[in-house]
Amino acid sequence: MQAPAVGGVRVRKGDGQTIRLPRGASLTDFAEKIGVDAASLVQVLFALGEMVTATQSVNDEVLQILGEELNYDVQVVSPEDEDRELLESFQIEFGSDEGDEEDLAPRPPVVTVMGHVDHGKTKLLDAIRSANVVDKEAGGITQHIGAYQVATEVDGAERRITFIDTPGHEAFTAMRARGAQATDIAVLVVAADDGVMPQTVEALNHAKAANVPIVVAVNKIDKPDSDPTKVRGQLTEYGLVPEEYGGDTMFVDVSAKSQLNIDGLLESIVLTADASLDLRANPHQAAEGIAIEAHLDRGRGPVATVLVQRGTLRVGDSMVAGPAHGRVRAMLDEHGDNVDQADPSRPVLVLGLTAVPGAGDNFMVVPDDRMARQIAEKREARERNAALAQRAGRRTLEDFMQHMEKGETDELLLILKGDGSGSVEALEDALSKIDVGDDVALRVIDRGVGAITETNVMLAAASNAVIIGFNVRPQGKATEVADREGVEIRYYSVIYQAIEEIEAALKGMLKPEYEEAQLGRAEIREIFRSSKIGNIAGCMVTSGSIKRNSKARLLRDGAVVADNLDLASLRRERDDVTEVREGFECGLTLRGFNDIKIGDIVETFEMREIPRS
Ligand code: GDP
Repeated sequence: MQAPAVGGVRVRKGDGQTIRLPRGASLTDFAEKIGVDAASLVQVLFALGEMVTATQSVNDEVLQILGEELNYDVQVVSPEDEDRELLESFQIEFGSDEGDEEDLAPRPPVVTVMGHVDHGKTKLLDAIRSANVVDKEAGGITQHIGAYQVATEVDGAERRITFIDTPGHEAFTAMRARGAQATDIAVLVVAADDGVMPQTVEALNHAKAANVPIVVAVNKIDKPDSDPTKVRGQLTEYGLVPEEYGGDTMFVDVSAKSQLNIDGLLESIVLTADASLDLRANPHQAAEGIAIEAHLDRGRGPVATVLVQRGTLRVGDSMVAGPAHGRVRAMLDEHGDNVDQADPSRPVLVLGLTAVPGAGDNFMVVPDDRMARQIAEKREARERNAALAQRAGRRTLEDFMQHMEKGETDELLLILKGDGSGSVEALEDALSKIDVGDDVALRVIDRGVGAITETNVMLAAASNAVIIGFNVRPQGKATEVADREGVEIRYYSVIYQAIEEIEAALKGMLKPEYEEAQLGRAEIREIFRSSKIGNIAGCMVTSGSIKRNSKARLLRDGAVVADNLDLASLRRERDDVTEVREGFECGLTLRGFNDIKIGDIVETFEMREIPRS
């Protein structure tokens, strides 16, 4: 049976089967899934007015169009689903405790402090750090690692609480947006002299949306104009009814500044956890959790604070954290002390990763280094493809070339972000040395150390710049905003690679240069006059070959009589031909030029683009 034709191209159609493709798949991936030749899909799309190559990543829409055309139900798989599938292929089930009820052990609650600006979130986190009564011998918490654990005494028992040391709901929401929920309880800080403010309500809504119980810290009660009762009344209107009014939310009056009643707050957190949450995890499995904070340390390489959510993390474990992997070389706690193991709800600083994971990336311990590397590499490749796919019709290095051709731009703007000031300087220095002539320029409009932020992306969007990330990754909503704004972010970990690609892009921005290539010569032996088409030169090709539609010039006694003529028609005997070789006779005309004489030489040439070295 004949395959049905699509736009003149024959490709076997499906009967509505579902095919799953990762975001950023290419036509080759598509073709593989349905068992056809990728080239035929290129043609199908071409017939539909889309020009893409077989290996180029295409966006969701193109995959859908192709699916519709070929009668397949295309499902573009989200990065989260894809990651789950990736892990499944390694037989890793992320996010659930192994074993039965009896394998589960209680774990401390993980707390995020939220609230309106200036209501005392930072101060409160500081106060809690120094009120770490039970752990006195451990000394104060000296290291800022993004999270810390304190101990308190409730009903004669020592209880631990983990605090995420980044105040505010931005980090909380950014993590949740990535499918990572680290927080068990939210402490809502409300200044008693200021009352409920817009961000109080915002924070409250975020906590509610995440189904996280709230403990209200009514702060600044040391202030004479503080009115804790008013705060209770205000929050009741938002559905947070204090226990003393018959509700189920604990309100604690504190002063972060005077360190008043911090113990009371800690106790309320523990009691709230006991009352409304069943916080247990299996400590006897391979560790899993999320990365809370990460950066590149000059001396120690990538360092990441991870929160263990289940299992026990040990020095020597092979782990994957987002697109980073490695073996845990050492772990430090918030006191800067080395620890050998970290149990559920414990935050630790991990040394030994190959790269810097993003905040909110999941981490897991796998059986060996090889598996860790494989998973990390697959994730990295996937991120790259997905980024490529989103590029269609957007500002990319390649775009510059097209704009350049239209005379629209001759400057490539860059924003450099790197893991250290040294690498950023080195990169900028190397970039400044790229020399491709005077026609195009490169300008670094911003540079900095650290993750690629939303601000970087907004600047890039506003100025049509490309962001270069050297050993750093986007943080928070930066990727999302970049996608939306059409900002290209390129990642590198080797300087020369960055230089090579940018140099290539700059060369692409140059107007093409042409050189003349001699094709052939013919001597005019006879002239035929035609009233319709003018003078026809009867020639003998003396060298090379004469081609129709090539450029020509006319020489007489060694001098150029006319240049840049077009060879309009070319005949042998009575037939129109495209080419006549050396030693043959032909008839030709020069468009719009009749002043030819016997003995003139017609020299033909074409303009060829000179490849740039
Ligand atoms: P954040 O923006 O919520 O992190 O607020 P900060 O922790 O930075 O505190 C804002 C201001 O309020 C700072 O000047 C603090 O010193 C002050 N502050 C915080 N807690 C208290 C408190 O309990 N009493 C008084 N009087 N001032 C406080």
